[in-house]
Amino acid sequence: MFPATFEYYAPTSLEEALNLLRQNPEAKVLAGGHSLIPAMKLRLATPPALVDLRRIPGLSGIRLEGDQLVIGAMTTYYDVQTSELVRQHVPVLAEATDVVGDLQVRNWGTVGGSLAHSDPAGDYPAIILALGAEVRARGPQGERTIPIDQFFVGMFTTALQPGEILTEVRIPVMGPGTGAAYVKFPHPASRYAVVGVCAVVGREDNICRQARIAVTGATLYATRATAAEQALQGQTLNADTIRAAAERAPEGLTITGDRVFASEEYRTHLVRVLTRRALMAAVEKIR
Ligand SMILES: Cc1cc2nc3c(=O)[nH]c(=O)nc-3n(C[C@H](O)[C@H](O)[C@H](O)COP(=O)(O)OP(=O)(O)OC[C@H]3O[C@@H](n4cnc5c(N)ncnc54)[C@H](O)[C@@H]3O)c2cc1C
Repeated sequence: MFPATFEYYAPTSLEEALNLLRQNPEAKVLAGGHSLIPAMKLRLATPPALVDLRRIPGLSGIRLEGDQLVIGAMTTYYDVQTSELVRQHVPVLAEATDVVGDLQVRNWGTVGGSLAHSDPAGDYPAIILALGAEVRARGPQGERTIPIDQFFVGMFTTALQPGEILTEVRIPVMGPGTGAAYVKFPHPASRYAVVGVCAVVGREDNICRQARIAVTGATLYATRATAAEQALQGQTLNADTIRAAAERAPEGLTITGDRVFASEEYRTHLVRVLTRRALMAAVEKIR
């Protein structure tokens, strides 16, 4: 398995990278390479050029800015998993990173790559979607901010335009009265999600004031389970209301099935079960 021939560029500034993308419109950005390189080896992707982001300073790191946790696009899963800032302000992200791939994948894979790739079975798309984050991108027209609800638009497709580079993700810090959990049914070999569900719950006087639930694995791209969210809104949070909301989680979702991993019926079942578990765990974690 060898990739097709390609040019390789290693720019040392974002401006240089953006210029290279302008000059090579068919080029692909290279981050951790743990999705792109396998796709190239299988000839599912044959970009004529790669623009490697790894030598560009300032694209990785984690910092707190007001009520947002800002994570640079080239920050690795490992950096997220071991970050005290993440554990303190958005603990679900660090906890969920424990179940992404294996050690090698976590050492190489990046936050920006996982979001820009929009893998239908990726973990971060659902987690970042449930967290209500926003994404910053730089492109030929300058910088723009994309709300995460508008970011995932299809399988392996995002709102990023040709020539744009995702530079950072901004996640609202989890305040008092909120809890979140990510639960996945992993494929036993790859650890990708057959189905994964992330739930973020805001509670006041034991009433659900806010719920964001996002599903991966079951749909073509990370999607919110809005029927379940609405079913929970304004309800007392207990096992019965959570079960009733979880039953409605598949409503409005286009759930996929395949012969290799799981049928549509089985994935639909998993969406209900994992939504209930994620909601129960999120409520347990409310601080
Ligand atoms: C064996 C194995 C197991 C895995 N298991 C899991 C798993 O359990 N869960 C999971 O979620 N993932 C899993 N992955 C995928 C892994 O997490 C990927 O590395 C990650 O999703 C993509 O990040 P990357 O940095 O490697 O991106 P790359 O592979 O470098 O790039 C992926 C795509 O995103 C684009 N891109 C990358 N960065 C940017 C940017 N900053 N701006 C614009 N476009 C960009 C690239 O051009 C490319 O199209 C697994 C991978 C392997 C090989």
